[in-house]
Amino acid sequence: MHIAVVSLGAFGHVNPTLSFVTELSKRGVRVTYFCTEDFRRIIEPTGAAFVPVPSWMAGNDPKDQKKEDGGKEDDGSVAAIVPFLFLNEAGAYIDTVLDVLKKDRPDAILHDFAGIAGTMAADVLKVPNIMLYTSYPSNDTYSVAESFAGIPDDHPLRVAADHIADSYVEKYGCRKMTVKEIFDGQGDLNLVMVQKRLVPNYESFDDSFVFTGVQIGKRSAFGSWTAPKNGRPLLYSSLGTAFNNWPEYYPVLFDAVRGLDINVFAALGAVDPETLHDVPENVELGKMVPQLDILSQASVFITHAGMGGTGEAIYYGVPMIAIPQMDEQAITARQIEKNGLGIAFLDKKAVTAESLRAAIVRLLEDPGYRSKAKEFSEDMRALGGAQASADAIIRFLEEKGQQI
Ligand code: UDP
Repeated sequence: MHIAVVSLGAFGHVNPTLSFVTELSKRGVRVTYFCTEDFRRIIEPTGAAFVPVPSWMAGNDPKDQKKEDGGKEDDGSVAAIVPFLFLNEAGAYIDTVLDVLKKDRPDAILHDFAGIAGTMAADVLKVPNIMLYTSYPSNDTYSVAESFAGIPDDHPLRVAADHIADSYVEKYGCRKMTVKEIFDGQGDLNLVMVQKRLVPNYESFDDSFVFTGVQIGKRSAFGSWTAPKNGRPLLYSSLGTAFNNWPEYYPVLFDAVRGLDINVFAALGAVDPETLHDVPENVELGKMVPQLDILSQASVFITHAGMGGTGEAIYYGVPMIAIPQMDEQAITARQIEKNGLGIAFLDKKAVTAESLRAAIVRLLEDPGYRSKAKEFSEDMRALGGAQASADAIIRFLEEKGQQI
């Protein structure tokens, strides 16, 4: 069996694949993994054959595109840019993907909504495509593409994206990657890494959707971390890897935790630690940190409610304070609060030192949150993670007559 994986070069997209690709390699499935060079060091340890692809996004700053969008920093701006960026990235990848796979045909191509070159290559090579949902899947009653619907058809970035999609149809003979197709399109097999009970309308998905939950596995690239051994509970804060540049948040966090009898670890992402002052004695700062290690020791997680981090916190039974940065995260933040897994700040302006401190204390003192998190953790673990994903992929290919 030979599987090709096509992934956007971003941690939120690559991380969820690592443990099931390792599992597939161990079981004798050959995996060819296409991603940008930066990710070679974290992909090669999975046992996959890594193929570097050129990146359009690496050489083009999204801020330049925002200027075309009137320079807005709101979700409308993100919704206009994202399809445009992903389509351009697919254009940078596709020739390398096809060159390699025409000579070494895979039995299926696996990708997520951001790995558009994967869908295109599956069409060109006429092989099944396996869709990976690191975020919510769409069906007749729920549509991720809807969150992009507020952008008018004549928006310059929407028009540009449409032209790009047309040009791919003409050049490669693939389907047209409309916004609907990118975000609501389904694969021949659909692997969902979100906990089933957190997915709106999960009962309505058919058998081609297999819910395997968060994919936890060893990640060697960021080292390891052990909390100070002083008996205090640990608060971990991370706004993820994509929209984490919110420097104004840190003074608020510092004031919220100053003097509390807890250890705090804050992953800063794009924020330069040198720009932060008055760091309390109980706070440690990092840039890109070993999140799974930290969550396994944490009592509270302040998160932007990205799908990866949320699933990981649930896996380790850690209650959350959710401060979403975009639409999808707001859905998750609401689910976190509704299910008793934590507290959501749907409006960033409501995040003050006082309100944040009160939320932290409440999560630490009210055992209801921890027991709900434990219940969800058990359910998440029962979904099977990487083992279940590998099982589903192998079963799918066996049904198509392939053997390991
Ligand atoms: N992550 C990490 N170290 C960090 C920050 C993030 O390992 O300092 C990982 C985290 O464990 C998760 C991914 O990066 O797997 C972030 O994905 P998520 O969906 O939470 O957020 P995104 O970055 O895509 O917004």
